[in-house]
Amino acid sequence: MSPTTAPLPLAPTHDVIVVGGGSAGLAAAASLLRRRPGLSVAVVEPKDLHDYQPGWTLVGAGVFSRAATQRPLRGLMPRGATWIRASVSRFEPERDGVLLDDGQRLTYRVLVAAPGLRLDWRAVEGLPQTLGRNGVTSNYLAELAPYTWELVQSLKHGRALFTQPPMPIKCAGAPQKAAYLSCDHWRRHGRLNAINAEFHTAAPVLFGVPHYVPALMAYVQRYGVDLNLKSRLIAVDGDRRQATFEVTDAEESVRRITRPFDMLHVCPPQTAPEVVASSPLADQAGWIDVDPDTLRHVRYPNIFGLGDAIGASNAKTAAAARKQAPIVAENALAVLDGQEPRCIYDGYGSCPLTVERGKIVLAEFGYGGKLLPTFPRALLDGDRPTARAWLLKEGVLPFIYWNGMLKGREWLVRPRPLPLARR
Ligand code: FAD
Repeated sequence: MSPTTAPLPLAPTHDVIVVGGGSAGLAAAASLLRRRPGLSVAVVEPKDLHDYQPGWTLVGAGVFSRAATQRPLRGLMPRGATWIRASVSRFEPERDGVLLDDGQRLTYRVLVAAPGLRLDWRAVEGLPQTLGRNGVTSNYLAELAPYTWELVQSLKHGRALFTQPPMPIKCAGAPQKAAYLSCDHWRRHGRLNAINAEFHTAAPVLFGVPHYVPALMAYVQRYGVDLNLKSRLIAVDGDRRQATFEVTDAEESVRRITRPFDMLHVCPPQTAPEVVASSPLADQAGWIDVDPDTLRHVRYPNIFGLGDAIGASNAKTAAAARKQAPIVAENALAVLDGQEPRCIYDGYGSCPLTVERGKIVLAEFGYGGKLLPTFPRALLDGDRPTARAWLLKEGVLPFIYWNGMLKGREWLVRPRPLPLARR
C-alpha cells in the first residue's frame, strides 16, 4: 500500500502524539505522563541515540567525552509512552493525523510537535566536502566535537577562524564558546601569541542581549580575538585551507574577503525542518507557528509546538525546552479536557557562555531580552564570569537534564498559570 493511500484510522490512535524524541519532545512526554499516567502517548523518533547537545561544547574543549553526551533512547522513553521508531513525513492537521515514512498513518487528539531544526551545511559552498578534514570542524555534530579538541591541541601557531551564521541558530553563544575555550587552551600552553584567532559573525553585535556584551568583550580583548561583525561564511576550500566571507560595511555595501586558516570552526546556517516548512503548521519563515505565550498553534487549537522548531523569538536552547515542556503539558491536558490553555511561557532561555575553562558568564533571559536569572545574585552573579556557573554547567545541569527534565521532574520550572482574566 502506498503511503498516500494508507487508510485513516477511525478512532484516534493516541491521545497525544509527540513528534521528536529530542530534548523538548521527551521532556514534554514525561511531563504529560507525570500528570496523567494513563494517557496514551506516542513519541515518534527515528534515532536510537539521544543527544545531550549542550555537552558538545565541552567535548570540543576536552572536558567531556562524546560518550557522556549520548544515551540510548530506549532507556530514556518516559514510562507509559510508546516509542514509534520512524520519521513523520507529513503533517496532516486537517485530519488530526501524521503520515510516517514507513507508510503508517497515526491520528491524535492532541499533537505536540518538537522535531528540532535542520543544520544546513550545504548553504556554505564546499563545506560538506571538507567537514571533518583539513582542519575544518564543528561542535554542532557529536562526531566532530572530538575533532575540534584534536585540532585545538595540535595547533601550535597559525590562524584559527570561528564562524557564526545569521540568526536564528540553536544556542547562539555556542560559536563564541568554541572560540573562547580554544583561546584559553592556547593561552594556558603559551601558544596564544603565535595563533591569530578571528571570530566572524553574520550578526551586527557580539551577543543579542546587550547586558552580557561587556563581559564577553573583555574576553575578546584578553585573547586578542579579531572580531568581525556582519561577516558571513559563504564558501570553504578545504584543500587550500581558505574560507570566503561576505562582509557588509557601515554603508551596507557588501564585499568578499578570503582568509587562509589552519583551523576553522563552523557553526552551520540553520532552518526549520523541511517537513515543517512545507506543512500547514509553518509560519512565513517555515517554523511552527505557535502563540508565544501558550505555545499553542495559532491555527490548529489541538496542536502545540516547543523546542528549536517553533517560531517564537526565545533563544533556541535546551534550557528553553526545559521551561516550555511543563507549560505544553499543562496546556495540552487542558485542551484534552475541553478547556483553554492555562499556562504562559515568558520566553526563558539560557546560554552558559564558557569564557574560559572553569568560568562561565551565565546568560538567562526571556522575550525581548528581559533578564530572568534563576538564582539570587549573591548565589550566582550572571553579570560576570564565575566558577559557580561552570560547576553548574559541568556537573549540575547534565544531572538535571537526565534525571529531572527527561523524567518530568520540573525542578525550578513549575508552570505559571494565566491571570484569571485570560482564562
Ligand atoms: P533536538 O534535541 O535536536 O531534537 C529533535 C529531535 O527530533 C531529534 O531527535 C530528531 O531526530 C527528531 N526529528 C527530526 N525530524 C523528525 C521527524 N520528521 N519525525 C520525527 N522525529 C524527528 N542549550 C542549552 O540550553 N544550553 C547550552 O549550553 C547549549 N549548548 C549547545 C551547544 C551546541 C554545540 C549545540 C548544537 C546545542 C546547544 N544547545 C544548548 C541547544 C540545545 O541542545 C537545543 O536547543 C535543544 O536540544 C533543542 O531541543 P529539541 O528537542 O527542539 O531539538
